[in-house]
Amino acid sequence: MRYEMVVGLETHVELNTKSKIFCSCGGHSQAKEPNDCVCPACCGMPGMLPVMNKRVVELAVTAGLMLNCEISRYTTFDKKNYYYPDLPCSYQITQLNHPICTNGCVTLKMPSGEREIHIKQIHMEEDAGKLVHVGKASYVDFNRTSVPLIEIVTQPDFRSAEEVLVYLNKLKSMFRSGGISECEEGAMRCDVNISVRPEGSTEFGVRTEIKNMASFESIERAIRYEVQRHMDAIEFETEELVQETRRFDEVSGKTFAMRNKETEADYRYFPDANLMPIIIDDEWLEKIRAAKPAAIDEKADLYREAGISEKEIDMLIHNHNVSELLDGVAALGCDAKNAAGWLLTDCAGILRKNGKLLGDLEISAEDLAAIMKMVDEGRVNRMSGRKILSAVIEVGVDPIAYCKENALDVQVDRAEIERVIDVVFSENTQAIEDYKSGKVKAKQALFGACMRALKNTADTAVIRELLEDKLSKLALQ
Ligand code: ADP
Ligand code: ZN
Ligand code: MG
Repeated sequence: MRYEMVVGLETHVELNTKSKIFCSCGGHSQAKEPNDCVCPACCGMPGMLPVMNKRVVELAVTAGLMLNCEISRYTTFDKKNYYYPDLPCSYQITQLNHPICTNGCVTLKMPSGEREIHIKQIHMEEDAGKLVHVGKASYVDFNRTSVPLIEIVTQPDFRSAEEVLVYLNKLKSMFRSGGISECEEGAMRCDVNISVRPEGSTEFGVRTEIKNMASFESIERAIRYEVQRHMDAIEFETEELVQETRRFDEVSGKTFAMRNKETEADYRYFPDANLMPIIIDDEWLEKIRAAKPAAIDEKADLYREAGISEKEIDMLIHNHNVSELLDGVAALGCDAKNAAGWLLTDCAGILRKNGKLLGDLEISAEDLAAIMKMVDEGRVNRMSGRKILSAVIEVGVDPIAYCKENALDVQVDRAEIERVIDVVFSENTQAIEDYKSGKVKAKQALFGACMRALKNTADTAVIRELLEDKLSKLALQ
């Protein structure tokens, strides 16, 4: 009997906002010490009331638009009641009845072709705090309580671990490029729902849910382990499968039962009367839509149109900081394809020399554009341009000032270049003879000699032009 795995994901993503979802405390990424981003509201003091952070709604809607969802025009919050020491109110504010986005869809490019994953819904909610266990004591840190999250719930559409990973990486690039979340380790956590059924069957098997997985590598290991456990249970009746919540143990690579799956009724959900329903009107929705950065697929198309190669596009999509720089430089009037070369060849080379990666690149779009313009306008040659770039990246100099201080400007005029070419010709009679007898390579040798004689102070394009000119006259003699 052949089996098919069925997976659905619930992915929690921490939003990139300046403050928490219902109070003005900074997000926990701003915290230095435990409990230094807390206030009476997010500590659950009696009588404190939540105040909605508008930015959370906008980021959730942006995420929904990126995932092709329907955006709810009327959205409300509910209380999900449970007790845990890291949850000071004994309820979590989340959305059950009217989530902000529904019915979306993402397309995954798999080696076997395209696959569609349907998004059931996206809802907004607050995160819980954190327990820190030290010896026999447990401490509670409320920095993370009330940090805004969106939860993206897919339909049970995944049929392989590879699809899950492609999906998660796609979400990550999308959310980074959309300014929704940095998705750093721990800011993106998944509950993975798994079942197995005989291939061809139209009914779903019993599902288990593995909670709170933060690393993609562990998600893959957990899926492989859990699918095998289900198959063994069905095929060899090793155990009876029950719907339950499990945890993955990194060390043994196994999953362990935590608790029976709780049902909606266990949480006694009810509408949160402290928060008004949110109405999203046409005007607001259009504003959010207009501010939405191009999705990665759209972005890739734009790069393709600009003549950037597939390999470069791939690098740009995976290095959000670099694609932002490219867009910035292009907005300043530079050619996008040319900018891709500067970024992915020149900048990458300089970084590599310093043992760094593209993700570490720190240069402003203005500085890079200034260098590109100096080269394009022939004020400095390409080699000097690269030298200036190195100094900007490594030391953080101002490109224009650096160029002046180091006399990298093309200072030599055409007459001087012609004079130097004459000298080079008189000193390289063998190369001239070679050229006359049809050895094209001799031209490159003459060009190199001119470059050395001019010590990089001339525009290479002009040298080439004048050299060609002289050589063509030579041929006529
Ligand atoms: P609940 O209300 O019990 O949480 P949902 O319908 O919200 O259930 O589904 C939760 C997650 O479980 C979703 O991501 C969904 O795709 C997934 N899921 C549902 N049924 C199955 C199944 N048989 N196998 C795998 N995943 C499933
Ligand atoms: Zn607070
Ligand atoms: Mg659910």
